[in-house]
Amino acid sequence: MHVRTTRLLCVMAPCVRVPGMMQTHSSPKRVYIDFDDVLCETALGFTDIARDAFGRDVAFDDIHSFELWKAFDLTRDEYERLMVLGHKDDFLGALGAIPGARDVLHAWREAGLHVSVVTGRPPECADISHAWLAQHDMPVHDIVFVDKYGRNDAGSASVTPAELAEMTFALAIEDAPVMADYLRDHTRIPLVLYDRPWNRRFSCEDGVPQAGRAVRALDWGHIGSRWRTWLAL
Ligand SMILES: [Mg+2]
Repeated sequence: MHVRTTRLLCVMAPCVRVPGMMQTHSSPKRVYIDFDDVLCETALGFTDIARDAFGRDVAFDDIHSFELWKAFDLTRDEYERLMVLGHKDDFLGALGAIPGARDVLHAWREAGLHVSVVTGRPPECADISHAWLAQHDMPVHDIVFVDKYGRNDAGSASVTPAELAEMTFALAIEDAPVMADYLRDHTRIPLVLYDRPWNRRFSCEDGVPQAGRAVRALDWGHIGSRWRTWLAL
């Protein structure tokens, strides 16, 4: 237990400072936000790599599989190269922000929520990820690096999905079908699925997200109009 706690602290170092954060006497509700394709336009960037490096011209709206080797019709070697290029600092640092995310994050700051970015990026991407959030004025408390897809090296300072399941969140916003499945089936975290072309087959329901049932968010404007209801605030 001691070792695991140390690892958690290691990968959950504070991120962007939030000087205006409202202090509350009870623990603030904690919100989980995925990074790629929820805060930033990562898949759009991958379409550039696929076209320029491998000659695969696939429009963003035609990315119907979360597995990019399928989406871009890549060989195993090409896929491995895509992932290397897609985790370089110059690529990650240049990704655009998804419209509306910043405004909602500021509203959450004002409401006193604890906002954690929960990402499947490897911990080696920590510096550029913190820098991107600061550059785009996105106030969050910390980044939690989770080995969501079993890609991280052995000994990586990331938490496992099972460790993530032991953490408490009032709401999670994800786009990845595999993680949405995991959160719905193995945790009690209310799930909001951020609408993307590759998750349209994931079954969602109307109303308020609860343990075991997901609600689809069409965009950050949608989240901005519903988050108080979803969090019972
Ligand atoms: Mg994502």
